Amino acid sequence: MTRAPVPAVPALIARKRDGHELSPDEITWLVRAFVAEEVADYQMSAFAMAVCLRGMTVRETTALTLAMRDSGERAYLRAVRGAKVDKHSTGGVGDKVSICLAPLVAACGVSVPMISGRGLGHTGGTLDKLEAIAGFRVDLPLARFEQLVRTYGFALIGQTADLAPADRRLYALRDVTATIESIPLITASILSKKLCEDLDALVLDVKVGRGAFMQSLPEARALARSIVDVGCAAGLPTTAVLTRMDAPLGRAIGNALETAEAIELLHGRGPDDLLECTLLLGIEMLMAGRRARSRAAAEAKLRAAIASGAARELLARVIAAQHGDPRVVAEPDRLPRAPLQLTVRATENGYIQSVDARRIAEVALALGAGRTRADQVIDPAVGIVLARKPGDPVRAGEPLAALHLRTRSQAEDASSAVQSAFVIGKRRPPSLPIALETIRDSSRKRARRAS
Ligand code: URA
Repeated sequence: MTRAPVPAVPALIARKRDGHELSPDEITWLVRAFVAEEVADYQMSAFAMAVCLRGMTVRETTALTLAMRDSGERAYLRAVRGAKVDKHSTGGVGDKVSICLAPLVAACGVSVPMISGRGLGHTGGTLDKLEAIAGFRVDLPLARFEQLVRTYGFALIGQTADLAPADRRLYALRDVTATIESIPLITASILSKKLCEDLDALVLDVKVGRGAFMQSLPEARALARSIVDVGCAAGLPTTAVLTRMDAPLGRAIGNALETAEAIELLHGRGPDDLLECTLLLGIEMLMAGRRARSRAAAEAKLRAAIASGAARELLARVIAAQHGDPRVVAEPDRLPRAPLQLTVRATENGYIQSVDARRIAEVALALGAGRTRADQVIDPAVGIVLARKPGDPVRAGEPLAALHLRTRSQAEDASSAVQSAFVIGKRRPPSLPIALETIRDSSRKRARRAS
C-alpha cells in the first residue's frame, strides 16, 4: 500500500491550528520524527498548543497514543496466567489505594502489573509512598517486573527510562508551555504508558472535586469519556469510575503515614471511605478480569482476601522481592516516624461539614511531604492524620487532626492552615457515597442497542 506523503512540519501544525483532522500516518510520523530529534522542541510545543486549542478526534488521539506507546520498550507478560488488569488514578489527596488494591486483587486471581508515578504538586504518588518502606526498590527492569508479576500476581514499579520516551519529552514541553490542560494530550499521556503494561483491561479512577485535577463533574466526565473511548479504540477494554475527592481519602496524608494506612486496611482496620473506594475499584477489576460472576460475588471475594490475611501476606512477599523490609506489614510502626506530633483542636461544637482536601494537601506539601519540582527530595515521615472526617461530631477542644512534623518552626502556620480546612456547622451533613458514576465503552452500548 502506498501511503500519502507527510507534509512539512509547519503545514501539519497549521492544519491542526485551523481545526482540521490529521491522519494517523501524519501523527505517527510527527511523533517518530520528534523522538528522532528531527522535529524541534519549539515545533512540538506549537503542535501541543494547537491541540490544546482545537482538540483532537478519537481517531487522532488513538494514533497519538499508539505512536507514543511505540516510542520505547514495552512489557510482554505472555507467561503470566489469567487476566492482567491495572488501575490508574488521576490523582488525589490521601489516595493510597494502589498499595492495598494491587495485592488484594492479585490475591483474588487477577494479575496487576502496575507501573506508577511520583507525586507532583498537591497530589501524592504511589512510588514515593512505597519508598517510605526501608530498602524498597521501584526502579526494576521490565524483565524483573515480568518475573514478579508471574510469581506473585503483582508488582509495583516506576516508569523505566525507555518506557514511552515520547510522552516523557512531550510532557516536559507541556509543563512549561501551558499545555498540560488538554484532554487529548492527557489521554494520550496516560494511555501510552498503560498500553506498555500488556494489559487485558484497565480501570480508571477519575477523581473529582477540590483535591483533584478535575474539579467539576463535566470536566471529569469529558476526561473519562476520552480515556475510555481511546483505550477501547486502541484495543484495551477500559472502564472509568468517577469518585469524590473533596475531602482527603482516608485519614492519612503523607508518604509513610499513607503506606501504614493502606497496610492497616489489609488488616481489616482501614477507614470506611478508603475501604469503599478500594472495593469499588477492586470489583471493577475482578469483573474485567472475569474472576467473578457478579458484583456481589466480587465484593465477597475481596472481603475474604482481607479477612483471611491472603492479601497482606502477598504484599509482604512482594515487598521482600522488591528489596524492602516486609516486617512493615505486620508492624506498620516500623515505617519512618516524624520526631514531632502536634494536635490541632476544634474551636467550636458541631458536625464536620467539609475538610478541604486542597488546603490539607498544601499543608502536607509545605511540611515536606511532596514536591513542586520533579527534582525535589521529599520527607517520607511528615504529614497529617485527620482525627475527624465529614459528618463526625466534634466539641470545642477535641482533636481535628495530628500534624507529624520535622521541626517546631513549621507548627504555627501548619496548625492554623489545617484548622481553616475544617468547616464546622450545627447539623450533621448527609453522608455521600464515594462513587459518582461509571463510564463504560460506548461502542458496546451502541452495539447492544442496535441488536
Ligand atoms: N498524568 C499523566 O501521566 N499525564 C498527563 O498529561 C497528566 C496526568
